[in-house]
Amino acid sequence: MAEEKEAPIAGQALTVETPLPAKRSMFENAQLYFDRIAEQMDLDDGIHQLLRSPVRELTVNFPVVLDDRTVRVFRGYRVQHSLLRGPAKGGIRYAPSVTQDEIRALAMGMTWKTAVVNIPFGGAKGGVRVNPKEVSEHELERITRRYTSDISIIIGPDRDIPAPDMGTNARVMAWIMDTYSMNKGFSIPGVVTGKPISIGGSLGRVEATGRGVMFATVLAAKKLNINLHDAKVAIQGFGNVGSVTAKLLDEIGCRIIGVSDGEGGIHNPSGLDMEAVFEYKDGPGGQSVNGFPEADAVARDEVLYLDADIVIPAAIENQIRADNVDRIRPRLLIEAANGPTTPEADAALLDRGVFIVPDIFANAGGVIVSYLEWVQNLQEFRWTEESINHQLRRTMEESFHEINEIADRKKVDMRTASYRLAVNRVAEAFNVRGIFP
Ligand code: NAD
Repeated sequence: MAEEKEAPIAGQALTVETPLPAKRSMFENAQLYFDRIAEQMDLDDGIHQLLRSPVRELTVNFPVVLDDRTVRVFRGYRVQHSLLRGPAKGGIRYAPSVTQDEIRALAMGMTWKTAVVNIPFGGAKGGVRVNPKEVSEHELERITRRYTSDISIIIGPDRDIPAPDMGTNARVMAWIMDTYSMNKGFSIPGVVTGKPISIGGSLGRVEATGRGVMFATVLAAKKLNINLHDAKVAIQGFGNVGSVTAKLLDEIGCRIIGVSDGEGGIHNPSGLDMEAVFEYKDGPGGQSVNGFPEADAVARDEVLYLDADIVIPAAIENQIRADNVDRIRPRLLIEAANGPTTPEADAALLDRGVFIVPDIFANAGGVIVSYLEWVQNLQEFRWTEESINHQLRRTMEESFHEINEIADRKKVDMRTASYRLAVNRVAEAFNVRGIFP
């Protein structure tokens, strides 16, 4: 395969010996993880070069009329990293800090995530540079509809299926589904997942990522002989993923000693009364756990440093880094967020014997149930919530055992084993398909 010397993001593969820039971007970190695995696996150079860059990228700059009748131009992205194992799949993120680099990294992560849990999808991600809290609901709808129209040249139920991510939700997915359907002239629920139930969303989808994180925690704790009843758990991030994880772990008897969100954190070494925390957060003037009266206030990042058996980063990327890794000392780290640990911090934690359940497996519950939602849409069929949760559990268990088997056989950590499993599956698809033309 010809090497793309001019391509800004392909270039030479990084090797373990390559001097690394002092500060790497999220995508460079994602490439570094992949390069290390490719080297260890002695992956063919052609497939290595192909998989270290996305196959297709779309940047859109689009105008939207704001409520005050002024026009503002927004920038959005949709990046498809790989289509080798099926249609591309991945969420759409709304945040003012969204960059193409971050979307590339997340799209690559989706390729590994769908492969590691063996669902027939490739990997993609999208995003718009907007703070959803700073625009009105009507403005958000117009932004979503125009962004959808602009990316509709590459999305579709048989090619690329978006879903919610940070800053987006079922409501946004409904607007995407409606916009795409209006342009085609009939309803196409299978174009997005994470939709409201009334238009083809799946039962169990809202809780799926957090439920998957709970299953991952149970499986890892069993392997480490950690008794979850009364195990101390700290969770950073209290959005869709963090809050559901906290609720479900609390229900199975864990002691949630600290949680935080963007506004701040709370700590109670005897265990937080989670029902009261939810009541406080959802109460008048709430929206945050910050200020919950029956706990000590801590800074939002301090939650990671609490004396907990299990630490769960469930907020944003790059939270566990070389500069703070010494303060993070759980037995078990469950990566509910995408990319929370830098490669340096990962190595330091492994040296200290921390058992890390990597993001591409730990937070795969969302995409597993998204797959089940898509299958239901295509078949115009509906499973019960019990059936969805059962299929989610079975898929997580099967995948965990496959990863664990590789980790034991190759004597490697769970991240390395997960990547080996995922990269092998993608490489196999490449090999059997061959190269067109
Ligand atoms: P969300 O927007 O619902 O919640 C994010 C939470 O993190 C909020 O509570 C926010 O206040 C908090 N937060 C932001 N910065 C923080 C900081 N510095 N310290 C503490 N808290 C902070 O997003 P989400 O859907 O829960 O996603 C969280 C992570 O999980 C992201 O990395 C996302 O990519 C990943 N993920 C989400 C899904 C899903 O289905 N929603 C699936 C897989 C992975």
